[in-house]
Amino acid sequence: TRPLEGKTALVTGGSRGVGAGIVARLAADGAKVAFTYAQAREQAESVAAATGGVAHPIHADSRHEQDVEAAVAQTAERFGGLDILVNNAGVGSFGPITDLKIDEIDAMLTINVRSVVIAIRAALAHLGEGGRIINIGSINADRTPFPGQSVYALTKGAVQSLTRGLARELAPRGITINNVQPGPIDTDANPADGPLAPSMLGVMATDRYGTAAEVGAFVSYLAGPEAAYITGSSLNIDGGFTA
Ligand code: NDP
Repeated sequence: TRPLEGKTALVTGGSRGVGAGIVARLAADGAKVAFTYAQAREQAESVAAATGGVAHPIHADSRHEQDVEAAVAQTAERFGGLDILVNNAGVGSFGPITDLKIDEIDAMLTINVRSVVIAIRAALAHLGEGGRIINIGSINADRTPFPGQSVYALTKGAVQSLTRGLARELAPRGITINNVQPGPIDTDANPADGPLAPSMLGVMATDRYGTAAEVGAFVSYLAGPEAAYITGSSLNIDGGFTA
């Protein structure tokens, strides 16, 4: 049997990029997966269709707590429970702190931090023994080799601290929480052939970007029964960005 057979999952921001890779892998490993998207409805539908398993897109904008709470409730209702929450939806705006617009700062704080707290609180009404929370942070929480990443790094540092704090709170319930910190992953937000790629590759040990499928495989492992002893950790998948 597949490692996640019988499990149910919700992934935020699954219509593209890293989130789509996570949805594909969790479904391939046997989980029933719901996932949110804010804009890309057609892409969300193709992600769902491509899994060949159970994958269900939900329109939910992470900027609104009602949407996030409704997505959790709908997932639990549709699948009869919730075992795995993956907080992946995230945005980044980069530049000198005085150049960032207040709207950009608010979007990063709201989507990358606030919505993660909201989703976890809502999911805890459903998660039981063996439950899994996996946050997608960023290697920028540990290393910001270029100027212009300060507020994005702040949000991912917050995810790191939240993960540590909650590990203590959730262990007695048999629930683990971990923070996956990707380095450069080839997505719309950070294309492997984009203008930033040469400088990224310049500070890494490997000579290539990671793929959403590689992050999906890592997340699926953390979601599975063999990872019960891993909690409170920030785990890098970064091609040696921090080596
Ligand atoms: P993309 O921009 O490629 O995809 C973002 C995904 O999040 C889309 O599915 C998008 O949905 C969704 N999303 C964005 N805003 C919202 C919102 N308000 N509500 C709901 N969903 C939303 O990003 P990546 O795949 O590159 O990044 C995914 C995560 O990985 C983020 O948390 C990012 O910080 C993190 N990360 C990425 C790295 C990289 O190099 N790519 C490196 C380190 C961390 P839609 O299109 O429907 O709006």
